[in-house]
Amino acid sequence: MTGSRTLTIGWLYPTKMNIYGDRGNVLALERRAQWRGIDARTVGIGVGDSVPEDVDLFFFGGGQDGEQVTVARDLQGPSGAAIRRAVEGGAALLAICGGYQLIGHEYRPHAAEPLPGIGLLDLDTEAGPERFIGNVVIDSPFGALVGFENHSGLTRLGPGVQPLGKIRVGRGNNGKDGTEGALQGKVAGCYLHGSLLPKNPVFADWLIAQALERRHGPVDLPPLPDDLERAAHASASERAMATR
Ligand code: GLN
Repeated sequence: MTGSRTLTIGWLYPTKMNIYGDRGNVLALERRAQWRGIDARTVGIGVGDSVPEDVDLFFFGGGQDGEQVTVARDLQGPSGAAIRRAVEGGAALLAICGGYQLIGHEYRPHAAEPLPGIGLLDLDTEAGPERFIGNVVIDSPFGALVGFENHSGLTRLGPGVQPLGKIRVGRGNNGKDGTEGALQGKVAGCYLHGSLLPKNPVFADWLIAQALERRHGPVDLPPLPDDLERAAHASASERAMATR
């Protein structure tokens, strides 16, 4: 891969939406691009910040209900419109848990008014009576994905979006319909913390390729020596399957 390629990662609300190891996703995206000679950099985008025009890939991590109230308010301003414009213009986006809930139409928490989302994914979420906590394995278009979940939100998918995968172990979107996460074009969301991408390199590379396409056209990323990543995936999968 020539060094002429650049990748800008926009890390949304890094000090408020970053729990259960989610920052590892940003590190994985940046490193996996850099290991291929791509000039990758990460820009933090906090409350009140403007969204840079050159973001190719957004990451939106998880957060507690209280932080989501503040972030949802910010997203109703210029930031939300700028993120939507960037995605319409070909940027990719990965959202985890609390971030995932806020890129749908609405999130209704236990102890707060309903929070409007930015409507990038056709889904709605309502806080449920129990917390889903545990290891998760799903079957997805990127193969098996492993992670862990910790949420009370119950997410229901609309007709405009496909599940990211089918539950093999865990509760997923709502503990009822056997789905986990959502995928719509270049926008993906799920409840898988962990962090997700270091243990799921195929998915990480898909996101990088989707993001690069915006500025550089279709790319074929050369493989990386993913022995460590595959070992971590296998270990997490074995641990999860043992809890079935
Ligand atoms: N506060 C949301 C919930 O409990 C999201 C939690 C999270 O991001 N882990 O469902």
